[in-house]
Amino acid sequence: MKVFKFGGASVKDARGVRNIASLILAEESDLLVVISAIGKTTNALEVVAETHHRMMEDLALDDYDKIYDAFVSQGELNSTRIISEYLNRNGVHNTWLDARRIMITDNTHRAANVRFEETQKRLKDAIKTRPSRVYIIQGYIGATEEGEVTTLGREGSDYSAAVFGAAVLADSVTLWKDVPGVLTADPRKDETATLIPEMTYEEAIRLTESGAQIIHPKTIKPLAERHIPLYVKSFDNPKADGTVIR
Ligand code: ASP
Ligand code: MG
Repeated sequence: MKVFKFGGASVKDARGVRNIASLILAEESDLLVVISAIGKTTNALEVVAETHHRMMEDLALDDYDKIYDAFVSQGELNSTRIISEYLNRNGVHNTWLDARRIMITDNTHRAANVRFEETQKRLKDAIKTRPSRVYIIQGYIGATEEGEVTTLGREGSDYSAAVFGAAVLADSVTLWKDVPGVLTADPRKDETATLIPEMTYEEAIRLTESGAQIIHPKTIKPLAERHIPLYVKSFDNPKADGTVIR
């Protein structure tokens, strides 16, 4: 099994969703497909949550972070429902999985810590009881053992993909991005930026620690520990090699 992860930029419009269908059809392996909220949905949901935050403050109520997670998790829940439905109607049969029953975390709302063993057990059980070539699941969100929704921190879908990849000992994890791969600099700021075709896990960890935004910092470790290669590839140019981290 391989893991594919598509971020908000890859699912910002219908063209992106059609592209996901063609990338899945071009792949022969079984796939676990991890998807973010559509475009900038999470930012928009944060604005909605904040309105509630202000009222809660005026009422001297706490536990806002729980409310925040309840709002923002709707981004991933709805994007994956729409994409799963589109794929099922267009020849890409798939099974929608609810990360709130699989990605088990502690109750640190907005920055939850993953309970790996429980998550692994739940993911393996889900795959065993519902055999399918393609699974669609939400990035970024999870839940406590009691079923209370949590999130892993902004841009956490890369990390979700790594946790799921580690849990199933995936052949590889691919992050499909709106850039050709990992570059020597941010291409928006430096037009001489060039592609780095191959990196070690150590180099990638150093890069994420230096503040580069291309990969969420927690992504590398679960893969490095299990020698699972991580590909960073262009969503718009899937035939290009991109970057491999191994
Ligand atoms: N949708 C979430 C965010 O924008 C998670 C992610 O995209 O990785 O932060
Ligand atoms: Mg995002």
